[in-house]
Amino acid sequence: MKCPRCKTENGTRTVCSKCGYFMYHPDVANRAHMTKGQQAVEDTKIVGKKVGKVFKYAWMILTLIVMSFWLVALMVWVMGMIVD
Ligand SMILES: [Zn+2]
Repeated sequence: MKCPRCKTENGTRTVCSKCGYFMYHPDVANRAHMTKGQQAVEDTKIVGKKVGKVFKYAWMILTLIVMSFWLVALMVWVMGMIVD
């Protein structure tokens, strides 16, 4: 790897031997060096987070439906009481 600051060739080093420039970029270079298995694990983590978010919303909607159902049932019961 060539240092972007002083153009010194550093081979596989992540820190420049001449100027100490840190050439390691975890989100770009590290991901490219990951094996297919490691990438699959990372992708599963991301998908898992998304599924968790969707599940949270689905649970919220379900709770809302159940709550409104009970509210309507209560209203109907109260109305029945008043009418009688
Ligand atoms: Zn350098």
